[in-house]
Amino acid sequence: MRAYNFCAGPASLPTAVLERAQQEMLDWHGKGLSIMEMSHRSADYVAVAEKAEADLRKLMNIPENYKVLFLQGGASLQFSAIPLNLLGKNKKADYIHTGIWSEKALKEAQRYGDIHVIEAGTQVDGKLAIKAQSELQFSNDAAYLHYAENETIGGLQFDYVPETHLPLVSDLSSSILSAPLDVSKFGLIYAGAQKNIGPAGLTLVIVREDLLDQANPEIPSILKYAAQAKNDSMVNTPSTYAWYLSGLVFEWLLEQGGVDAIHKINLEKAKLLYGYIDSSDFYQNPIAIPNRSIMNVPFTVANSDLEKLFVKEAEANHLLNLAGHRSVGGMRASIYNAVPLEAVQALVNFMDDFAKRNA
Ligand SMILES: *Cc1c(COP(=O)(O)O)cnc(C)c1O
Repeated sequence: MRAYNFCAGPASLPTAVLERAQQEMLDWHGKGLSIMEMSHRSADYVAVAEKAEADLRKLMNIPENYKVLFLQGGASLQFSAIPLNLLGKNKKADYIHTGIWSEKALKEAQRYGDIHVIEAGTQVDGKLAIKAQSELQFSNDAAYLHYAENETIGGLQFDYVPETHLPLVSDLSSSILSAPLDVSKFGLIYAGAQKNIGPAGLTLVIVREDLLDQANPEIPSILKYAAQAKNDSMVNTPSTYAWYLSGLVFEWLLEQGGVDAIHKINLEKAKLLYGYIDSSDFYQNPIAIPNRSIMNVPFTVANSDLEKLFVKEAEANHLLNLAGHRSVGGMRASIYNAVPLEAVQALVNFMDDFAKRNA
């Protein structure tokens, strides 16, 4: 039986997608081999790769003047690739700091340029929040503005898209495809696949064409967006299986009604879980309401000695991976697109039972 999986990443995948991949595993479309054993340059594989891109373009309504790249190295390699490609001649960039992932991104960028850090975390009535746009000061001469739309570990999410004349660069690793997004507001969007797209090993970069030509000439070709765009993300062998499986997830999302439809379900899931936490004296969430992540829900219990027991008993009830990130402790439920409403209902039922037995 498949358990309910609340892992932050690599995360839950739709069962229907895994079943399809299983059916196609040994003999893909009657070709006598698996997709993993095919040349990435074969007509069959290229068709799979192109279909995945076309479906993603449909799902996110990506304008034509954007390239979609299917890369490797995770979001973390993009922490370097972005400054190396975009810093340009005066080597200045603005980075908004809201938590652990935006900090990792800016620390990496500091190796390559003059990074202006904008502290955007604040406290509202003892809860963590993101400052309003009016409280943030951006530079005039920076090459771009970077921010992490959803801080996966903290469970802190922007409730606005920063307004700026600078090209906007966003780490959407844990929130891509969870809610409608106006791609045209961004210069570059990137996301590791293993949260809300597909298996680990694939990183999506969506980049506006006019930003392709400012790369530091010394950087490796593999990291150069212009080279990857020119070669359809095949400067070298791409992560073929992860690309294929992500394509199946895009098809599944289209069958669900697309991003608007999945967003409605995501809001329902978040409302159910946060609503239960707020109604209980036993559990707490540390985030101010407007900035609560709809994908990653951290929570604590007053007596932290109970955390291990919570995670262990949850697991015995087929509710997996509820321990918080190793750097922060507590618990965290990641409720990405592939986690169904029933899973969240089962979690809430378990939380309520656990509270009654341990209050
Ligand atoms: C998981 C995550 C990362 C790191 O992703 P890797 O693919 O492991 O490098 C970066 N940013 C955010 C917001 C994440 O959630």
